Amino acid sequence: MTGTKPNPEPVHIVGAGLAGSEAAWQVAESGVRVVLHEMRPHRMTEAHRTDGLAELVCSNSFRSDDAANNAVGLLHAEMRRLGSLIMRAADANQVPAGGALAVDRDGFSAAVTKALNEHPLIEIHRSEIQGLPPADWSNVIVATGPLTSAPLAEAIRELTDENALAFFDAIAPIVYKDSIDMSVAWFQSRYDKMGPGGTGADYINCPMTKEQYDAFVDALISGEKTDFKDWETNTPYFDGCLPIEVMAERGHETLRHGPMKPVGLTNPYDPTVKPYAIVQLRQDNKLGTLYNLVGFQTKLKHGAQQRVFRTIPALEKAEFARLGGLHRNTFLNSPKLLDAQLRLRAQPQLRFAGQMTGCEGYVESASIGLMAGLYAAADARSQTLAPPPATTALGSLLGHITGGHIETIEPGARSFQPMNINFGLFPPLASLPTRNPDGTRLRGNEKTVAKKQAISARALTDIDRWIADNLRVAAAA
Ligand SMILES: Cc1cc2nc3c(=O)[nH]c(=O)nc-3n(C[C@H](O)[C@H](O)[C@H](O)COP(=O)(O)OP(=O)(O)OC[C@H]3O[C@@H](n4cnc5c(N)ncnc54)[C@H](O)[C@@H]3O)c2cc1C
Repeated sequence: MTGTKPNPEPVHIVGAGLAGSEAAWQVAESGVRVVLHEMRPHRMTEAHRTDGLAELVCSNSFRSDDAANNAVGLLHAEMRRLGSLIMRAADANQVPAGGALAVDRDGFSAAVTKALNEHPLIEIHRSEIQGLPPADWSNVIVATGPLTSAPLAEAIRELTDENALAFFDAIAPIVYKDSIDMSVAWFQSRYDKMGPGGTGADYINCPMTKEQYDAFVDALISGEKTDFKDWETNTPYFDGCLPIEVMAERGHETLRHGPMKPVGLTNPYDPTVKPYAIVQLRQDNKLGTLYNLVGFQTKLKHGAQQRVFRTIPALEKAEFARLGGLHRNTFLNSPKLLDAQLRLRAQPQLRFAGQMTGCEGYVESASIGLMAGLYAAADARSQTLAPPPATTALGSLLGHITGGHIETIEPGARSFQPMNINFGLFPPLASLPTRNPDGTRLRGNEKTVAKKQAISARALTDIDRWIADNLRVAAAA
């Protein structure tokens, strides 16, 4: 895309991490001026160590690079098609990591910093934005990440409301619905309550015997845990949202009186036997493809989570779209607060990007930065950009954070928690593949593989069409 209209107003981007850097690149490559505001090195976060743009604060991995079989690999591929700076710098600084895309973190950050520094349409200001951006900035992207500095975070909280900006996440594992054994589990809400928008059969229930419960509690307590960072400890937040293993440590029966209480539910497969405990799963997205384990926010290590949670009856073969966690974070209740173009409904000149929008991970953050950049550039050029198709990785992630998640708890509370890209966010295929390319019938795991590959192929076709229809047209305008 090249600029065609006079554009005196630059796009202001606050935060030059993964999302802000990608957004700046996309805006500038569209021919629109950018002022990029980054507070480091004058003010550091608790996790960043350098003054480099797009610093990776922990792992150096962008996860799987397999576009045919893995949703994050697919996201890489779509971003590359859109000229992503983050992907270009990652590809140029790759280190050996099997099927994953891992990078030399210093080389990666240096490449991003150099590209942005040298871009004629980008001005970089090294200063902290200590409150809401000035009212005369008409086109702003806030991409200040999970460790947004306190004065800005406080101003955003005041602009939204108490529940709209969270400072910690409390992530319960999410499983693909089609991996739950429904010959053991059943749909029912406690006491068949309909609730607002419910049917009386909204939860998936997994029954446990006493022996299964005892073994489960022991496994939770002995499972390997990740530690809180120094700056994550001592927060009152965790009193209201305890990790499940901490609840288990408080007493052997605590979970049976909390999230695993067996009351108000009848097992239709064996109505005469009352389960000793019940694990409930609640629908997590509008498509109904993902279910979260209610009350199971956890600091268990990922391997331990899979091992322990697969001991739950009906979840023996569960496939996890996301595993649980608790972290210091700063993120909006985006489905409520943001429109489909990532603008704050209450102040549309403010657009959000990156982890603040409720996506999680380096790649996801950069991808939402990419979309925010394209939308901001379109606004600056008085153009309208159609959303990427819901069948693409970009479209499905964007759709989830701006509306695809469903609020499933009491009004006033919030259930939206950060999300990685995964195949559960994509709309189902019109028809499932049944045969291998050689004509033989698909069996067992081949069906899952073929389904993922068909979703990926559909996504790449659709993103190419979207680029051709929208961005090439814009470039030619
Ligand atoms: C401790 C920790 C470990 C993590 N480990 C991983 C991991 O291993 N893998 C993974 O995929 N993801 C990881 N994440 C998540 C990761 O942070 C995000 O995925 C990603 O960096 C978020 O991108 P972002 O652009 O939204 O925020 P960031 O990359 O954090 O960028 C935000 C930028 O905004 C700047 N900033 C903040 N406030 C202001 C202000 N008021 N004015 C100006 N500038 C400001 C910051 O200095 C920073 O440069 C981790 C997060 C944390 C906190």
